[in-house]
Amino acid sequence: MIKLFSAILLNLIFIASFAQTQLQSPEQFLGYELGDRFTRHHKVVEYFQHVAAARPNNIKFIQYGETYEHRPLVVTIIASEENFKNLEQIRLDNLKRTGFEQGTPATNVALVWLSYNVHGNEANSTEASMKTLYDLANPANSKTQEWLKNTVVMIDPCINPDGRDRYANFYNQYGNYPADPSPDATEHREPWPGGRANHYLFDLNRDWAWQSQTESQARIKLYNQWMPQVHVDFHEMGYNTPYFFAPAAEPLHEVISKWQREFLNMVGRNNAKHFDENGWLYFTKERYDLFYPSYGDTYPTYSGAIGMTYEQGGGGFGGLTITTKEGDPLTLKDRLTHHYTNGLSTIEVTSQNAAKVTAEFEKYFKENLTNPASPYKTFVIKAENNADKLNRLAAWMDTHRIQYGHPSAGKSTKGFNFKTQTNSSATVSTNDIVINIYQPKGRFVTTLFEPQSNLGDSITYDITAWNLMYAYGLDGYALNERINVAKPYEQQKAENSNVASKPYAYLFKYQSMEDVKFLAAMLKNDFKVRSSEKAFSVGGNNYDRGTLIVTRRNNESIADFDNALQTLAKKMNRKIYTTSTGFVDSGKDIGSGDVKFLKAPKVALLGGDQTSSLGFGEVWHFFERQLMYPVTVIGTDYFKSISLAKYDVLIIPPGRYRMFDDELLGKIGKWVSDGGRLIVTSQALNSFSDKKGFGLKEYASEEAKKAAEKSETQTAKDNVLVPYDEAERKELESAIFGAIYKVTLDSSHPLSFGLGDYYYSLRTTPMRFDYMQNGWNVGTLRGNVKPLMGFAGYKANPTLSNTMVFGVEDKGRGQVIYLVDNPMFRSFWENGKMLFSNAVFVVGGM
Ligand SMILES: [Zn+2]
Repeated sequence: MIKLFSAILLNLIFIASFAQTQLQSPEQFLGYELGDRFTRHHKVVEYFQHVAAARPNNIKFIQYGETYEHRPLVVTIIASEENFKNLEQIRLDNLKRTGFEQGTPATNVALVWLSYNVHGNEANSTEASMKTLYDLANPANSKTQEWLKNTVVMIDPCINPDGRDRYANFYNQYGNYPADPSPDATEHREPWPGGRANHYLFDLNRDWAWQSQTESQARIKLYNQWMPQVHVDFHEMGYNTPYFFAPAAEPLHEVISKWQREFLNMVGRNNAKHFDENGWLYFTKERYDLFYPSYGDTYPTYSGAIGMTYEQGGGGFGGLTITTKEGDPLTLKDRLTHHYTNGLSTIEVTSQNAAKVTAEFEKYFKENLTNPASPYKTFVIKAENNADKLNRLAAWMDTHRIQYGHPSAGKSTKGFNFKTQTNSSATVSTNDIVINIYQPKGRFVTTLFEPQSNLGDSITYDITAWNLMYAYGLDGYALNERINVAKPYEQQKAENSNVASKPYAYLFKYQSMEDVKFLAAMLKNDFKVRSSEKAFSVGGNNYDRGTLIVTRRNNESIADFDNALQTLAKKMNRKIYTTSTGFVDSGKDIGSGDVKFLKAPKVALLGGDQTSSLGFGEVWHFFERQLMYPVTVIGTDYFKSISLAKYDVLIIPPGRYRMFDDELLGKIGKWVSDGGRLIVTSQALNSFSDKKGFGLKEYASEEAKKAAEKSETQTAKDNVLVPYDEAERKELESAIFGAIYKVTLDSSHPLSFGLGDYYYSLRTTPMRFDYMQNGWNVGTLRGNVKPLMGFAGYKANPTLSNTMVFGVEDKGRGQVIYLVDNPMFRSFWENGKMLFSNAVFVVGGM
């Protein structure tokens, strides 16, 4: 009651203050000039709320989500009074232009969305957002009020508040007084992990498409309710670099329209005009491309907007002031003024061309709906694929408003077969999922599913392949013909009627991440679980390798065992199989030594300085937010002092390690021999290869090593006369940024359970390791190797032929698992998570 009363009172105060709020500038509101300090997120939010309260007929404040650390994610919408009254109509009209809503638009207003500070330590952006907001909100500013007549602006002051406050708190703590411009000062050197990433250390500017993070999920939902025509993602880069703005660098994906390219130029020219007036340095058409679909510029671009990245020099090094290579000071004020200027310039040029911007936007989607240019018109996902994977992909497509479903009739046709990577005959059935590109998100669909993305220029900023058919390991086709959706896809539910009440054992298939989550939940709830290493049949059903078996025996301590297990299985949508006997019809009996007991592992994860913050965060997030299984993070700085004996599994994420000296490797080796399971990923393998006690070798023999060195020496000799302006291209010859390779699996090894004979691997480094002489070469690249998709330097491929990608070394009572490719990369490789989970839970069964 008291609570209710005080809530009413608060509301009254709030309403009262509404009426008398006078619009304040950021300086008036904060009590200091922008650029004098880094403003913490809660104050920024308060300022945005203040402005909304002061201009209630022009500004709408929306909280659209919350970060992992419980900071609010907010957007404000700024409009003229007239447009503000019609805001919902304007939004719906805009969706009519895209085809998401039916009907003809009655309004004609452009929509600009400005997103700030996705990288937390690129911290001028949020400061700039307040200045930009104030100018747009200020009725005395005749220029901005004129633009708002035909343009609505949305401002997200901070996409990544957790990372940004991490940076702001760091700087507030370490900053000198007065600020020290020397780049050597601690205030310019953030400690690990820095403020760039979010709580789980994900790069949110790589997550727009995959949406692994809560910030992305909340934002994409809002984004797709509005679908702006112009989107700017504000960034910072090295402090010695002049400003970058549109047009973008090559490669530009082929789906980008002529108008999008044209308007990028128009925006660039307008920004240049303002920069020229002030004499500020800038560059365009270099470095920042439009290709990988999960950025804050490409995602909007593939959704019909003019998507752009703006980059100011500064970033985590910048502080309040720093001395550049020219010996000049670069201040926070300079930096925020540049972002502010370009933010307004973008609104200006949009407003000047508002009618054209909306007309072209409409045209883009008309083309999508009626006459899309890309050669592959329909992607078919076979019904025979694992139902969990289909469910998951479907749910993910829903978040992007991608349209899909079942066709009205089956047919025989021709198409690209993702399993064989050939053009061959293709059968489409009425249970398959079809996704055609005659839809609002058609171009986005193309970038995600096309068998090959044409890379106009191989110098790119990121991975060059990401196809979801390979990421999920799905069978299906890409067709040149259109197949329409006739029926909606329904999430598949496990049928569980007539489950035997007191069986000898329960059996569960093990083929997807949902099965892994179920295994993790059983182990967490103290169920004793076994895994069959051999296929078998019993009671008329066939069971693959990896099948999970929960016997009545050993589970006597679980209260109301049958009910508890069945309830958990039903809750997690698992199909329950039972057997009344341990005597199988074929294969090994349930009591056989080939049916291994899986101990619930106590898992330790190495984190902190020297680990790759991204690689560490991927595993951390996986355990806490996907598997819901406990993990203990142990810091690199005290790792040596802890007792490993308490843990069953130790995960060493990718990183550049200095800590693994002979003594520590000896300690870890002994722990493995005593029964520990060590998982080492990607660059971390360098600390274990060719080391005493570990079987990992870059080259199997001295001869092979010498041969490789000889060829390297020859390359170096050849490169002596490389012309100055070809050096960058020369480096590409041995590079792999991110390409998809087909890895042969030993499907009989537990590391492969649930995956089959092949695994499509996203490889992001040219690292190579030879076949292990005393270990299981579970994943291998055999014969002549080249990627199925994406770019790899022509010199990189031959070095990968006949190499180990995933290996398991048995050592005493334990195992070392080597993962050369990082299966957890950006948390979007669904099959990679399965492989990784096998390493954690299934390998080393007793
Ligand atoms: Zn950035």
